[in-house]
Amino acid sequence: MRSWIRFFAPAFVAVFALLTAPAMAAEPKLVLVTFDGVRWQDVFRGADPRLVDDKAFVNPDLKSDVLDPAYVQVKDRAAALMPFLHGVVAKQGVLIGNRDQGQCASVANDMWFSYPGYSEIITGKPDPNIVENDKIWNPRPSFLEYANQKPGFRGKVAMVGTWTLFPYILNTQRSKLPVNHGFGDAYPTDTRTGREGLALLKAHNRVTYIAFGDTDELAHAGDYAGYLAAMERADEYLRQVWDLIQSDPYYRDQTTMIVSTDHGRGKEPLSAWRDHAGKRYFDLNPTYQPEFNATGVIGSDEVWIAALGPTIDRAKAPAYTLQNCAYSAQIASSALSAVGLDWRAFDPTIAKPLSFVKKP
Ligand SMILES: [Zn+2]
Repeated sequence: MRSWIRFFAPAFVAVFALLTAPAMAAEPKLVLVTFDGVRWQDVFRGADPRLVDDKAFVNPDLKSDVLDPAYVQVKDRAAALMPFLHGVVAKQGVLIGNRDQGQCASVANDMWFSYPGYSEIITGKPDPNIVENDKIWNPRPSFLEYANQKPGFRGKVAMVGTWTLFPYILNTQRSKLPVNHGFGDAYPTDTRTGREGLALLKAHNRVTYIAFGDTDELAHAGDYAGYLAAMERADEYLRQVWDLIQSDPYYRDQTTMIVSTDHGRGKEPLSAWRDHAGKRYFDLNPTYQPEFNATGVIGSDEVWIAALGPTIDRAKAPAYTLQNCAYSAQIASSALSAVGLDWRAFDPTIAKPLSFVKKP
């Protein structure tokens, strides 16, 4: 009997090691979340008192405590609006783009609206030929399309978004990526996108992209209270996504979450918060909103970027200043690096990863 134990003990150890190895080996995952057209001003300053007090943009009867600066200390206004982003993501990870503190994040394209912005984020560089939000199949492959061709990722890359153009931007015709964009041509809500996004995560994907859109729709409608309420919901979706990630052993401590926006919004005149687009767009469309023809909508190239997870190194975050701006184009290579894929093999000409992203 003893000789049996001596004989089999090493074998048992070896079998045990084999059985436990797959569970212990890190299999990095990524979740990209975007919120359409959310200004850094509102992210870092919270509700703008001038807009909250403007009856053109906020119905005084609908002024909620959280949105009304009078109810919230100035320094807490941003955290009152987005408690998870400021209380967890910025503290444990990275949140950049606060120009009040000399930080800088920007789009690299010169259109400053959604199709060019999302294309830049997922392909890794601006495409000067994309000059409209039209149903055109994106000629460039996205990092999601590339990841979906890699062993261990195939069939585990998925997207849901609040916009009917996402299948075109991710070119589902060529990429064959599952892109859930709502029903027909009706506008899908963020509530639905949040629900479907959590379902995609529960299905155990390696790369998941969840794109919210209510913020931009409400801003264009001139509803500042609605826009801020959508930001508040956006923050709650982020918390739900991260809670799910950290409660599921498939994701826990091996998932990087990157959060950003596709463009900023105007800052001057005050009413320009509703709008966004670069000068070249107005050069091409001089009758669209002639009041912006001379300059474009100033400030709508300015964005913010957040990241959280095991590949995010806080110590390397403060490098992005006005002299050394971070670009939306860097998100694609950052995303590939965060899951251990070689971004140069995808496309060596795209923007390099953000400095705070390390290999898994
Ligand atoms: Zn818009």
